[in-house]
Amino acid sequence: MTAVQEERTTEELKALAERAGRELEDASALDILRWAAGTFGSRFCVTSSMEDAVVAHLASRALPGVDVVFLDTGYHFEETIGTRDAVEAVMDVNVITLTPRQTVAEQDAEYGPKLHDRDPDLCCALRKVKPLEEGLKGYQAWATGLRRDESETRANTPVVGWDEKRGKVKISPIAKWSQEDVQTYVAEHGVLTNPLLMDGYASVGCAPCTRRVLEGEDARAGRWAGRSKTECGLHG
Ligand code: SF4
Repeated sequence: MTAVQEERTTEELKALAERAGRELEDASALDILRWAAGTFGSRFCVTSSMEDAVVAHLASRALPGVDVVFLDTGYHFEETIGTRDAVEAVMDVNVITLTPRQTVAEQDAEYGPKLHDRDPDLCCALRKVKPLEEGLKGYQAWATGLRRDESETRANTPVVGWDEKRGKVKISPIAKWSQEDVQTYVAEHGVLTNPLLMDGYASVGCAPCTRRVLEGEDARAGRWAGRSKTECGLHG
């Protein structure tokens, strides 16, 4: 049986994650993804918010045709959908778009309009957390673009860790990268980025919950600005 087909118990996956987190702390992003490709094969995917395609690009070098999972909440900027389409068209990846159970109109009918303003945690649970939970079911491991320098809540992100909530290995290959490292990689490899990054946005999420950042603010200050909320629940 190859690594690709291998079934592992939750305990085995957890032990694997903890050991790899220690052993790969000083490895390059590409080597971390090569380890993921070799260990999980097609049971591994990358999730992307389509802020940029850096992790998708790195992962496609480690595993050509890798699954790239994108959550279409129904509230994205058109630039984000355009970035998704461009990634699908030009990169050696398999883009999988997940959608919530309800359209925005159906959600408005059941919960009232602008749930994001009244109860963003519920809105994120319905439009992000649940669809991702469903979408990740077939995978043993998923990769994200989380970086330690993005915010205090992400400062301790392991390069490989255990996602207790979903029972999966969670890989953050660029956890140690700075914004400058991202920009260097984008320039060196001609990686697609969301046009909004050139328009004052430092972190791109759903349109109703994202604003441009001000000078001196951290990258995620423009997300749910004015609220205590800092994460959508995908990474908590
Ligand atoms: S980021 Fe805002 S609009 Fe998007 S799912 Fe969360 S609360 Fe809803």
